[in-house]
Amino acid sequence: MLKIKDIIDYLEKWAPLPYQESYDNSGLLTGNPQQELKGALISLDMTEEVVDEAIAQGCNMLISHHPIIFRGLKSLTGKNYVERTVIKAIKNDIALYAIHTNLDNVHTGVNRKIAEKIGLKDLSILDKKGGLLQKLTFFVPKESTQKVLSAVYEAGAGQIGNYDNCSFRVQGTGTFKPNDEADPAIGKQNRQEEVEEERIEVVFPGYRSKAILHAMLNAHPYEEVAHFLHNLENEYQETGSGMTGYLESPVDAKEFLLTLKEKMQLSCIRHTALPEGTIQKVAVCGGAGSFLLPAAKGVGADIFITADFKYHEFFDAEGKIVIADIGHYESEIFTKELIYEKIRENFSNIALYLSKISTNPISYV
Ligand SMILES: [Zn+2]
Repeated sequence: MLKIKDIIDYLEKWAPLPYQESYDNSGLLTGNPQQELKGALISLDMTEEVVDEAIAQGCNMLISHHPIIFRGLKSLTGKNYVERTVIKAIKNDIALYAIHTNLDNVHTGVNRKIAEKIGLKDLSILDKKGGLLQKLTFFVPKESTQKVLSAVYEAGAGQIGNYDNCSFRVQGTGTFKPNDEADPAIGKQNRQEEVEEERIEVVFPGYRSKAILHAMLNAHPYEEVAHFLHNLENEYQETGSGMTGYLESPVDAKEFLLTLKEKMQLSCIRHTALPEGTIQKVAVCGGAGSFLLPAAKGVGADIFITADFKYHEFFDAEGKIVIADIGHYESEIFTKELIYEKIRENFSNIALYLSKISTNPISYV
């Protein structure tokens, strides 16, 4: 029996909840994760209409990018659309699940999808997050190195960019004297020992540290394991906001905007003055991205494609970059496809649907 929890665990391996922004509310919002999954509907927003669609499709899970419960609820009386949507979901046993800024912040998330739609190459995160990585240093008798290393790799350590099983090792001598209470794996009570050991260092995302530490201690032969856990200030290249990439070859700015309109199915683009020359380096950020303008200018992007720019913020382009505001909903609409494809990769037989409802609250004439 497939549970709602199985889908959640899978999605959170892809876009871990600790990667969401502090103001966000991603994760399971309503429902019992232990319930059997009957079907899942994927949408950009949670609205009453979309919950109705889930009911009509026989789904008991609604997966959306934007969380309907965002600032917290102090009562549930149905006085606004947020409360009515939540009440309808609970009454009809629909689990509401949001995968929001955690999916913005992973390198295979929202912005990757936009970059692929536009046809960008050589992608990298625009504003990488620091302070997410940790390093574990531990000491192992030589003959146990492989066993312990395999265990920490298995638990998620030692993955850097396109490289797995990364570690650094150096040999040395460990010394210890077990007391009367000890049950040493090597040596005898009350006798000074010297053992040929290896000092091993591995790096990993900090949110995995408990599991990795547990795996290391479990696989290690010693009763007392010498180890150090350090926080790293390093940027984590796989996590952060926005993305940059390059067009295959430079394109005339006006021509690029017209192609962008077609590829992203836009009815209009609000943009700043176009340069005389061409466009090649492109920065993108799905949804409200004006906070990333300094980063986009800083990396020398020719254009920044995002949404929710305010009038005065457009002035900040200062002729150094083109700001192209394509609309919040429009910039993120392919996130539905992205989530669908990701779930399908692993669950080929479940009932899975893309919402057919446009939840865009903005219309154009
Ligand atoms: Zn958004």
